Amino acid sequence: MSTLAERAMAEMARAEAEHERTSQEAAAAARKHDAQIAARALRRLGVHPEEIEVDGDRGEARADGLTFRGFVRYGDDMLQIVAPCPDCGETVGSYAISDLFDLGRVLRYQERRESNWIISHNCPARKCAGQSTQPQPLSQAEQLVALIRQIARNEAENAVAELVPER
Ligand SMILES: [Zn+2]
Repeated sequence: MSTLAERAMAEMARAEAEHERTSQEAAAAARKHDAQIAARALRRLGVHPEEIEVDGDRGEARADGLTFRGFVRYGDDMLQIVAPCPDCGETVGSYAISDLFDLGRVLRYQERRESNWIISHNCPARKCAGQSTQPQPLSQAEQLVALIRQIARNEAENAVAELVPER
């Protein structure tokens, strides 16, 4: 017969193991889900489903030699390019990509070996070099496109607001 303390400790160990298992399962399911979102967003950009390689274990989707992660922002499927930082080589993510324009901008920065496309990365190489990590200001054309997008988004939201009467 085990003591109360022994049984309590055994129960705690069991619960901890259970928690560990379920959180690992949840993380694996979330990665699979993220990969599916990325695949969906790539299809929306016109990539043929057969050209999309979904890697649920890594939570990524690959197409055309590029690696993406997916996430949902305000109900929209968004992409993020995953690639090495040009300065330190660490794997980093890009800012949110919702269309070909966004993707084109990231790819152009990458082509020029600039780091403006990287988000949330405190680069050790750039810190040593004493360079700024501030993103470059948008060009006038890019500002205009962003403004037009904002207007279109507001229009769409207003249209929805009119359709759904307030209670
Ligand atoms: Zn870096």
